[in-house]
Amino acid sequence: MRIPGSNYCIEHETALKELRRMYHRWTVAFDGIKWERYLDTISKLQESGQWIKEVAKFELKLSLSGS
Ligand SMILES: [Zn+2]
Repeated sequence: MRIPGSNYCIEHETALKELRRMYHRWTVAFDGIKWERYLDTISKLQESGQWIKEVAKFELKLSLSGS
């Protein structure tokens, strides 16, 4: 089920919100890490959840394709 105006279903939308929340913490912890760098790192982390990884990969593709 997709949320109107979103690329994602409810599970992935929730993961995206978590991803963005975590990013704020990472920018502090890793001195202004870039969004793309963050997404790439998250998508390869063992401890990342499956939903988070999928969203990170998708957002990275979007970002690199200039959207
Ligand atoms: Zn989904």
